Amino acid sequence: MAGIYIHIPFCRQACHYCDFHFSTNLKTKDEMVQAIAAELSHRKDYLKEPASTVYFGGGTPSLLSPDQLHFLLDTVKEHFKLEQNVELTMEANPEDLTPSYSKELFNLGVNRLSLGIQTFHEEKLIWMNRAHNANQAREAFENARAAGFQNISLDLIYAIPDHDEKAWEKDLRALTELNPEHISLYGLTIEEKTVFGKWERESKLIQVPEDEAAAQYLFAIGFLNDKGYIQYEVSNFGREGFHSRHNNAYWSGVPYLGVGPGAHSFDGASRSFNIRNNPKYIQAIQQNESFSETETLSKIQLINEQILTQLRTRNGLNLAKISETSGADFPEVHRALINEMSGLDLIELEDGFMRLRPKGFLVADEIALRLFFPE
Ligand code: SF4
Repeated sequence: MAGIYIHIPFCRQACHYCDFHFSTNLKTKDEMVQAIAAELSHRKDYLKEPASTVYFGGGTPSLLSPDQLHFLLDTVKEHFKLEQNVELTMEANPEDLTPSYSKELFNLGVNRLSLGIQTFHEEKLIWMNRAHNANQAREAFENARAAGFQNISLDLIYAIPDHDEKAWEKDLRALTELNPEHISLYGLTIEEKTVFGKWERESKLIQVPEDEAAAQYLFAIGFLNDKGYIQYEVSNFGREGFHSRHNNAYWSGVPYLGVGPGAHSFDGASRSFNIRNNPKYIQAIQQNESFSETETLSKIQLINEQILTQLRTRNGLNLAKISETSGADFPEVHRALINEMSGLDLIELEDGFMRLRPKGFLVADEIALRLFFPE
């Protein structure tokens, strides 16, 4: 099992909260597509297993024309073995999903769409500088369904300033009324190098207090659970049979190849990071120069990564496996900590697995850090 991630580093406009790698200069789209195809060809031996998931992320992959996507998909198929029922996901922004574009994607073989809805409140969409409005979000979903998509994921953001629990519940209701197969929830974080970061420094924006953000998150878990969505990771919820293969592969430490500027790859022992700059990436590829840095992970780093990623999932941390790989009796080493966290209802131990309780999901990374082996 392996995965392929293709980063499309363009956006129509910059959302005020986003620090992903993208450019709003769309002039180099053609050159970029050629460069990404060249990288796919150059790294055709990176994966040793057939890929079970191909994921177009960004940025905004839906800014590419059907022809450009077709070309990239053909390049993937030319150089990599894909499993027969490969999950082929594309992130899309609502303003792009017209009936004809949706149909083109479906005909290309894309079988999963991930839509950035974020909120249904018009004034908040404008405040975040999203390029769509709430009606477009609903229409995009309907267009995707009409085109034949049976596996659609929708993203929502919670902990938006001046967006109380009633507004949050309204967002969750509006989202679940569409009946998507999968939902991702993200708390709004203020990143330094964004417009929101600047506004925060100028005291024009005050982040939602932690306890309010936590209350919204816990409310959402209960709300979505009642609607039949299974929380299978800290931020992800899905109907049975619709848990993202792409996400699961990443959390279970499966090798994946990431192409495009800013993309990461992992071959089971080392991680590589592509240049996070569009012109430099294109130039490096065109001139056959190095476009990435590689870091070899120590055994301890690999084990700690497993702790971090597995703990975030519904399956939890396999205690026997982690003891075997580390050569230490993991539950025994952490006996006092485990008792403390169980007492605080942050974790539970069951059938040889350590799993987070709803309150634990709020502090998943902090818990993982306390369970790390020292380097
Ligand atoms: S569309 Fe997505 S990637 Fe682009 S700026 Fe907005 S949140 Fe970031």
